[in-house]
Amino acid sequence: MKLGRVSALLDQLRGWERATRPLDPVKQRILAERWAALPDGVKTPAQLVGRHAVGCEGTHGVFPKCNLTCSPCYHSSDANKVRVDGDHTVREVERQMAHLRSRRGPRSHAQLIGGEVSLLPPDAHADALLAMRRHGREPMSMTHGDFDYDYLEALAIGTDGRRRFNRLSFAAHVDSLMRGRRGIPRPRSEGELNPHRRRFVAMFRRLRREHGVRAYLAHNMTVTPTNIDQIPQVVREVLTMGFSMMSFQPAAFVGDDRRWREGFRDVAGDDVWAMIEAGVGTRIPFAAAQMGDPRCNRSAFGFVADGRWFAFLDDNRPADLAARDAFLTHLGGITLGGVPTRIAAVRLLRGGVRHPAVIVAGSRYAAGLARRAGPAVLRARGRVQPMTFVMHSFMDASQVAPAWRLLQNGVVSDDPAVRATQERLQACVYTMAHPDTDELVPACAQHAVLDPGENAALRRLLPLIDQRPDGTGEAGTCPAVTVREAVGITTH
Ligand code: SF4
Repeated sequence: MKLGRVSALLDQLRGWERATRPLDPVKQRILAERWAALPDGVKTPAQLVGRHAVGCEGTHGVFPKCNLTCSPCYHSSDANKVRVDGDHTVREVERQMAHLRSRRGPRSHAQLIGGEVSLLPPDAHADALLAMRRHGREPMSMTHGDFDYDYLEALAIGTDGRRRFNRLSFAAHVDSLMRGRRGIPRPRSEGELNPHRRRFVAMFRRLRREHGVRAYLAHNMTVTPTNIDQIPQVVREVLTMGFSMMSFQPAAFVGDDRRWREGFRDVAGDDVWAMIEAGVGTRIPFAAAQMGDPRCNRSAFGFVADGRWFAFLDDNRPADLAARDAFLTHLGGITLGGVPTRIAAVRLLRGGVRHPAVIVAGSRYAAGLARRAGPAVLRARGRVQPMTFVMHSFMDASQVAPAWRLLQNGVVSDDPAVRATQERLQACVYTMAHPDTDELVPACAQHAVLDPGENAALRRLLPLIDQRPDGTGEAGTCPAVTVREAVGITTH
């Protein structure tokens, strides 16, 4: 009896020791493979991919339909001819996430994306998020935000009245290039949308108040010459609204060409970033930490206190860079999210004890941050809001298609422009899974090359109206063909 207890205790201790190991060997192997596959040009000290992160992931072909219209729209012209079908969504999300887990390791961030997520029945939406979590993915639902509190509550709380989630993540795409939003079908300016942005955040505040469900909210905005000048005003308003991320996407010629407008490419990344800085009222350093290729992504992590934004990392501060380097060298790949705080704390502690250089550099960094932001944090009485700025520049379909085809044949182009596109695709940090072909596909290639065929197949699989031989039709009938059969044809 006593021996049994001792053995159970030893098992518990071994389990605790494993759970609090700073680095997971599987993740470390996958990071090393990712680093080895990166083009040399992006293997800089700032690079996070392959050293700490594998990159972000997204779903495809799981609910292509949307009930708003945008110019541009990255979905192919067939997307709105595909029926939303919760069973299909959950089944495909499950398969894609299992594939991502097997190829990209135990943990990552993934977006539940495709069309408009709130067109899914709440139960199917919840099941898709739970499937993503089961496969170690931290999910974020991508929406236009034009839904009601009832929907959000039904998503978060099951029919048995119990909470399905302690925390939800949503990204709301809200900008004046979108048409059909309830209450403001044709916005004439970004400012007119602020009440709708506030309404979106308010729904999540209410959910927390009434059910204790926390939320991480991102704000997405497509940028064209039409609205670039309005970025500073949007940033000033959204900064303290309750979002934790602001993401800007300069428009690209990809997706439904009926919704393309001349002049998208007049928007340069530097101009967009300058506008964001004008809105924040300070320089936003992005060069200290890089996700993938700088031509694709800029990110600046920080927080707002007392109405001011502070960067976590500044490439002009040697102490920040020393802390970054020590962390990436010794603890790159450590997983602190998705586990109880006590586990994360012990992982950090064990890592620090093993590598005192991290503690030394971390202490200098923390002292500098406290000097810079401490007074504002005190004035704000500790109320700080995380705020990350992101700019993601998708590529034009005409640019991506030839580069991707060559890459698939193992050919590195001699043409400098095509070669540049190939490098960006190789360093891509936004990946979609194709379990049938065992391919991992950059979102640019998915939208530029694969979406049209995939949506055409889905249109047959999930028709809006099931046409009968006698010419009659019935909505919501699923033909006896699997999506694997339908989509598999199109992904080669
Ligand atoms: S290749 Fe395309 S999807 Fe991938 S990171 Fe670059 S812009 Fe984004």
